[in-house]
Amino acid sequence: MYGEKLVLKNLTELELVDFIVSLGLPKFRGKQIFSWIYRDIKDFDQMNNIPKNIRRKLRENSIIGNIEIEEKFESKVDNTKKYLFLLNDGNIIETVAMEYENRLTVCVSNQVGCRMGCNFCASTVDGLIRNLEAWEILDQIMKVQENLGKRVSNIVMMGSGEPLDNYDNSIRFLKLVNEENGLNIGNRHITLSTCGLVDRIEKLADLQIPINLAISLHSPFDDKRREIMPVANKYKIEDIMGVCRYYIEKTNRRITFEYSLIKDKNDSDKEAARLVELLRGMLCHVNLIPVNPIEERDYEKPKIEYINRFKNYLEKNRIPVTIRNSMGSDIGGACGQLRRKFK
Ligand code: SF4
Repeated sequence: MYGEKLVLKNLTELELVDFIVSLGLPKFRGKQIFSWIYRDIKDFDQMNNIPKNIRRKLRENSIIGNIEIEEKFESKVDNTKKYLFLLNDGNIIETVAMEYENRLTVCVSNQVGCRMGCNFCASTVDGLIRNLEAWEILDQIMKVQENLGKRVSNIVMMGSGEPLDNYDNSIRFLKLVNEENGLNIGNRHITLSTCGLVDRIEKLADLQIPINLAISLHSPFDDKRREIMPVANKYKIEDIMGVCRYYIEKTNRRITFEYSLIKDKNDSDKEAARLVELLRGMLCHVNLIPVNPIEERDYEKPKIEYINRFKNYLEKNRIPVTIRNSMGSDIGGACGQLRRKFK
């Protein structure tokens, strides 16, 4: 809802048809209006096959739901674009688009700010401002698509915010983005990244949506993890591993573990060895991400030989692993950096 009005972009096709019928209008108008919404229109008057009186009725009862591009930055070092979007209430969020030969991946924000407090992350420095509605997550994709004139093929829910802390809107977003006559982006092309909210992962597993799940682990030891991520005070690594096994059992999907490598913090052999112990035999993959320094914390990237040594240890022990460098490092590297600079 937006005030008293319904946001049309927040509805599935079926729900939109029901809404149109509830206004005393025929079903087929609902289908027509749904398809207009995915042509990224700004105003009801652009719906030129919908009679004026119906457009007026729509305007009285609903809004389409649009966010606006406030700024766009293009990386000179790779094919990354970052967008700052202005929300209807004046808040700003950031979205990243990464273009590859035949793929366009968009990293969406889920909340304005974040309350999880991960030490290496700029998004959390001012805490959580508010959750995004499902349509505000969806519209980030639609606006990038429109701006670049190219279909988005993959989505990562890895921008500002913790998607499972905004659980209902995240699940609704997954439903919306999957709509056959909408964006029609399949679950297997979507990755949801979480800092490890065990009870919510369990709930998600029970839904059996075949999305890719990524867990921010960052240390295989509870005490070290607590220093990096306050959420570790609530959830133990043992419980995270337990719920990951449950997720794999329910969905048959491989889990990705995100591991930000921080110099002298979590990059030692001891950590690599414990990580191997935890993950041995699990259907998983590890992404090693050399940390992006942020102004507010004094974390440093390990030297390349330490990064390679960590990776080799995992590989030697048959844990699939990739080193991932942050994209768009010249236009506000880690999540939340760009938005904070803009404020
Ligand atoms: S890394 Fe993710 S969960 Fe942690 S503070 Fe940043 S946005 Fe929140």
